[in-house]
Amino acid sequence: MSDIIQLLPDSIANQIAAGEVVQRPASAVKELMENSIDAGGKNIRLIVKDAGKTLLQVIDDGMGMSPTDARMSLERHATSKIRKAEDLFELYTMGFRGEALASIAAVAQMELRTRKESDELGTCIVVEGSDIKRQEPVACDKGTSISVKNLFFNIPARRNFLKSNPVELKHIIDEFQRLSLAHPDLSFSMVQGDELVYDLPEGKLSQRIINLFGKAYQEQLAACQEETNMIKVTGYVGKPDFARKTRGEQFLFVNKRFIRSNYLHHAIMSAYEGLLPENSFPFYVLFIDIDPKHIDVNVHPTKTEIKFDDERAVYAVVRSAARQAIGSHNLTPALDFNA
Ligand code: ADP
Ligand code: MG
Repeated sequence: MSDIIQLLPDSIANQIAAGEVVQRPASAVKELMENSIDAGGKNIRLIVKDAGKTLLQVIDDGMGMSPTDARMSLERHATSKIRKAEDLFELYTMGFRGEALASIAAVAQMELRTRKESDELGTCIVVEGSDIKRQEPVACDKGTSISVKNLFFNIPARRNFLKSNPVELKHIIDEFQRLSLAHPDLSFSMVQGDELVYDLPEGKLSQRIINLFGKAYQEQLAACQEETNMIKVTGYVGKPDFARKTRGEQFLFVNKRFIRSNYLHHAIMSAYEGLLPENSFPFYVLFIDIDPKHIDVNVHPTKTEIKFDDERAVYAVVRSAARQAIGSHNLTPALDFNA
């Protein structure tokens, strides 16, 4: 009997991986913007058309890539961010799996333009469904611009599965808000069609919150600050009366990575004790800083779940930080612009 097992061609392997990493336009936005942040971009621009279904483009002024690296960046498991297993526990970058660009390139028509500051000319690569159509020198700004056209053009089932434009746009805005909240020290903008949706100058977290959500938030925030030898918690929690009936304005970051955690959400909710109106959710933007050796980010390809080695200790500090802020909001100015 003849043997029947074969290795899959890269293009198919990439398409399968893409199923996990790129579920919708917003996932591509997240991956591209995270790459821009990892590359040290100070100004990050997002352009979308048709809620990202026909075009999404991220432009940064970060370190750029050499022509060879640009070509390599499209390979699966190709990354500049880790080299050995131990690096996984010293992660300060958003990326490390080396999968995003390969995955996006497998399911879209992608154009990558990039130039390092030290290079006179940049390079432009056009790739379609993992197939590199051409690479050529090009005059371009320092940094990287990646445009993704017709996401899922080669997977009709996936494309048809996308939701309406308003729904897909909402997912994109969610990602944009999370990333721009995590990095108030960088400037971001977002254009959808002909409309400038956000134009966020670099500044303080408090200002970023107001720029994203509106002036009404200014009076409603209480500053959090608590530190132990293991973790530091900073950010703002909303006053109890400002709580809403709908979820969605709860932001928790671990080492600047947005994460979901029912457990830590509970820590914050419990800090409000009886102060919240029934069935309502407080606004919060909380940052946990912790030595990466105490966490495992590699739980899921989208990295929104993480594991702590001592989750209970983290719970206690988060709860206490939120409690102090809520308890003291009557005594201190609502928002400390010097914080
Ligand atoms: P990862 O971010 O996990 O390393 P990606 O597939 O997202 O994997 O990117 C692959 C590599 O391409 C990165 O490690 C980085 O070296 C390079 N890269 C991607 N985007 C950019 C960018 N905007 N600027 C500079 N380099 C980039
Ligand atoms: Mg990446």
